[in-house]
Amino acid sequence: MENGQGKRVIVIGAGIVGASMAYHLADKGAKVTLIEAEGIASGVTGSSFAWINASHREPDPIAQLRGAAITEYRRLETRLPDLKIRWTGALSYSSHSSEAPPPSESRAVANRVSRSRIRELEPNLKHPPESAVYAAEEGALDAVAATHALVAGAQACGAKVLTHTRVLGFVTQGAKVTGVETTRGVLDADSVVLAAGTGINTLAQLLQVSLPIEASPAIFIRYTAQPNLVQTLISSPEMEVRQGPDGTLLAAEDYLDDAPENQPAAIALRTAKAICNELQGVVSIAPGRACIGLRPMPADGIPIVGFLPNVGGVYVCAMHPGITLAAIVGRLASEEIIDGKVSSALYPCRPARFFQA
Ligand SMILES: Cc1cc2nc3c(=O)[nH]c(=O)nc-3n(C[C@H](O)[C@H](O)[C@H](O)COP(=O)(O)OP(=O)(O)OC[C@H]3O[C@@H](n4cnc5c(N)ncnc54)[C@H](O)[C@@H]3O)c2cc1C
Repeated sequence: MENGQGKRVIVIGAGIVGASMAYHLADKGAKVTLIEAEGIASGVTGSSFAWINASHREPDPIAQLRGAAITEYRRLETRLPDLKIRWTGALSYSSHSSEAPPPSESRAVANRVSRSRIRELEPNLKHPPESAVYAAEEGALDAVAATHALVAGAQACGAKVLTHTRVLGFVTQGAKVTGVETTRGVLDADSVVLAAGTGINTLAQLLQVSLPIEASPAIFIRYTAQPNLVQTLISSPEMEVRQGPDGTLLAAEDYLDDAPENQPAAIALRTAKAICNELQGVVSIAPGRACIGLRPMPADGIPIVGFLPNVGGVYVCAMHPGITLAAIVGRLASEEIIDGKVSSALYPCRPARFFQA
């Protein structure tokens, strides 16, 4: 019998992070209730570019986590085939004229490739750079579908899912949280996981805890275009794009400001022009959904994962890049909560770093 058999765990938030937590906890035998204020993947997960991007320039305090992200998704997709990850590889370059960025140590399987190889990988690029970094093992997923797959996996392991149910407060006994107050009443728990994205701030404040998590905006754009324009995932100064098998083209752009010319619809048109400038053979490219997503961004850029100090029974999971890290953090955090197995890969992520004198 698993140690966690029967342990009641409430996970707040059904974005990809909460869904992964719910799946891994339920898989370990915990009695999981996943509570979501709106619908599944209705938060920033629903507007994510969703690149499983294991690369980062050094120094990277979470290199160990990032380095394990792809292997963990590979493991997870054998158990949850509906994750439907597309392992297309990713091609990154900084400019047409200059050299590509040096591959970081954490990008174990990224190679610098020459123009001729870039042409093979992306035959539609009009101006292939002299060189680029190609991470053959990287990929992307449909973040909404993957979150549903994780939730379905959690349910298959016995988890209960309450959507359209908001957590309003906590029930405490002394310094320990023993349950949550929701719009549907009180639910008891042995542990509570805060996986509510940018909503974690509000929840933590209810426990008199202040966590520095900013709501960091980025622009998500979906286009309808003809298939086979983009084969891999291209990240360049002009565009960050990838394409699904049905032709849907996805792009991510920086948020600039709230000026009319920088509204998502205007950026979608500008980005469409950039894509036409960069790719040959674009017959049609019609912007569909274009919106701002608010990423839960810890102030120091490092995920916040672990038990809250000074409040018993509360575990925080706040991170960017949340798609990349959801699988590995879901497994390691569930082992900490259920088995008491402390993960050294999560050491740099502890909430306690914000409370040290
Ligand atoms: C344009 C864009 C591109 C991106 N590209 C990438 C990328 O390529 N790779 C990558 O790894 N990441 C990327 N990200 C970031 C990634 O999408 C996020 O890190 C990730 O989705 C965060 O997931 P989450 O589950 O923590 O948050 P969310 O998806 O926001 O989930 C939190 C959920 O909690 C719920 N909630 C909040 N408060 C309460 C409450 N009181 N009670 C109950 N429920 C509550 C919310 O309704 C929400 O559904 C991108 C983001 C954007 C916007």
